[in-house]
Amino acid sequence: MLRLNDIVDRVLNTRPAANIELIQKAYVFTAKVHHGQLRESGEPYLIHPLNVSYILADWNLDEETIATGLLHDTVEDTVASIDEIRELFGDSVAQMVDGVTKISRVIISDVADQKAESLRKMILAMGKDIRVILVKLADRIHNVRTLDHLSPDRQVAIARETQEIYAPIASRLGMSRVKMELEDKCFEVLHPDDFRDLVRAADERKRGRGEHVQKVSDLLEAKIREAGIDAVVTGRSKHISGIFNKMARQGIDFEHVYDLLGFRIIAKTIRECYEVLGIVHSLWRPVPGRFKDYIAMPKANLYQSLHTTVFGPNAEMMEIQIRTEEMHSLAEYGVAAHWRYKEGKQVTDKGDQMFVWLRQILELQKEMKDPREFLDTVKVELFPEEVYVFTPRGDVKELPRGATPIDFAYAIHTEVGNQCVGAKVNGRMVPLKVSLKNGDVIEIITNPSHKPSRDWLKIAKTSRALNKIRGFIRQEQQEHSLTLGRQILERELRKYSLGLTKTMKSREFAEILEENRFKSADDYCIALGYGKVSLVPLLRKLVSPEQLQEKGKESRLEALIKRVTTRKPSAVIVKGVDDIFIRLANCCHPVPGDPIVGFITRGRGVTIHARDCPKALETDPARAIEVAWEAGTKAAHPVKLKVICADKPGLLADISRTITASDVDIRRAVVMTTRDKRAICSFDVAVNDAKHLSSLIKSIEKVKNVYSVERGKG
Ligand code: MN
Repeated sequence: MLRLNDIVDRVLNTRPAANIELIQKAYVFTAKVHHGQLRESGEPYLIHPLNVSYILADWNLDEETIATGLLHDTVEDTVASIDEIRELFGDSVAQMVDGVTKISRVIISDVADQKAESLRKMILAMGKDIRVILVKLADRIHNVRTLDHLSPDRQVAIARETQEIYAPIASRLGMSRVKMELEDKCFEVLHPDDFRDLVRAADERKRGRGEHVQKVSDLLEAKIREAGIDAVVTGRSKHISGIFNKMARQGIDFEHVYDLLGFRIIAKTIRECYEVLGIVHSLWRPVPGRFKDYIAMPKANLYQSLHTTVFGPNAEMMEIQIRTEEMHSLAEYGVAAHWRYKEGKQVTDKGDQMFVWLRQILELQKEMKDPREFLDTVKVELFPEEVYVFTPRGDVKELPRGATPIDFAYAIHTEVGNQCVGAKVNGRMVPLKVSLKNGDVIEIITNPSHKPSRDWLKIAKTSRALNKIRGFIRQEQQEHSLTLGRQILERELRKYSLGLTKTMKSREFAEILEENRFKSADDYCIALGYGKVSLVPLLRKLVSPEQLQEKGKESRLEALIKRVTTRKPSAVIVKGVDDIFIRLANCCHPVPGDPIVGFITRGRGVTIHARDCPKALETDPARAIEVAWEAGTKAAHPVKLKVICADKPGLLADISRTITASDVDIRRAVVMTTRDKRAICSFDVAVNDAKHLSSLIKSIEKVKNVYSVERGKG
């Protein structure tokens, strides 16, 4: 079992002057408050904080972080309070423990909302103190290492979350060692059979090749030494999930992946790296197109290295990476490496660059109120398979894979993006939706009178471009609504011989602003233009009821309200607003019981979407309003069902009978058969609510030879 002394020794090993007292004090406190608690494995709970703390010590982090590792679960799981921690261990430890606690409180859930929220909290915590995330990653590593004691369900849930959130964050922070460990463990849990097969195959291959690898490695070392260079040559460790991804991505089997032998050479200086590269290329012929100079052109997470593939002895391909020790430690430990020996002082320039990404994300998160929208954005940022492209002047721009000329335009300048009307790639005109490739030279054609269109939201890939486009559309809509709102207000007031300017200065108008919490007259007009507020309350204050009734007869607004109240086709309530025209979206067909969201559409009232409908996610969140299903209403709601079953005679009749037996109307049925003797049936049915629908799905599932029943999208 790990002991406090192991941690202390590990710290003193690299920093003899370290403040060991703080760590010892944290240990005593943790041991006291966790006393008597057990882990799922039956071991004392203390084992967990000790291990987390050891991992942090192993990354050469400072004493405060190591102490936080010991204390990280005390506030969440024991009687200890943040104030107590602050008093005993100071502000920054308390802040870190608080950060870790806040993240822990939202974790583990397969509800997308909460996942987004936990990610948002994590990123906020990172912005305050990046060390919080390092503690959280160490926590996750130990939890994942000891996953075997949990139930299979929990194992899968944790593996999924780790794969979706923690591994990408580790990767983005340049911590490839952590990323690989997390990914391999998740892969083992989520695909146990594939994992076992691959490990076995990799081991066999390694055993068969051991001698050969040694010979190549010896030859390399000898040649390097001959040139008077001091460098270390190693074979590369395997990363099972990496191999698997490569196989899946390229559609190849193991044999074809692993014939890539790998070596890594760690040299002392950058110059020596290039000299070693020269030696490698003089020994073996390089494979064209495979040389990458990440030293001159570091990756977004600041990874630096030379990569080359050569035809080795026996003409087999070998991949060789060459880098300095500093680059190597950065490649393995990423942002953690920057904290080494810094003892809380300013991080290096490189560390700062790494935080540019973080700062950008933080800015985005300020603008985005909807956690789902935020999650979508961050996902783009977390899986950065970059392409490098050039401006006509030769400046490099780094964009995510799949990025388009629109992304490029916005990467140059917001105005260039907004005014983009076309693009030339390598001198040729291309459609704006093409994906850019490495090395492309891009010229953007602009027109000052051009404006971004809503369609661009489907084309753009970077969060920067998406945000700028959304922002532009939002602002344009606001301006439009402001003009429209002013027009409505002015026209209505004129009917009662009231002036716009005078009314806006009146006490009654001020009351309306106050009651509705509008900051300005413009805000009121915008809301009026959107259709979010009604003019009637203001008119009631300004004119007598008789006058209102008489003139009101001609009022378009009143007519609209009347029309709306007489044709309320659905059972949806819009919170805080009566009398509004409601339409259920055609794309997602929400039924009562489904989580829904409303969007204000100009002139068409409110459209109701299912919360997870892609159209809803695309729509400007400023137009979203809260809506709810009215209780106890019965109305038929259209829904699409997709049933996959065996292609057998009589089965369609069985399914149809089941549907009608559930008191559901079938409005349309289409059947397609596939070559593998299956039938895909699409039904348009009408149900009362979500419960009705799920019981219908269950009874169809029970029909013999039905493989699956799904609610159709779109
Ligand atoms: Mn923990």
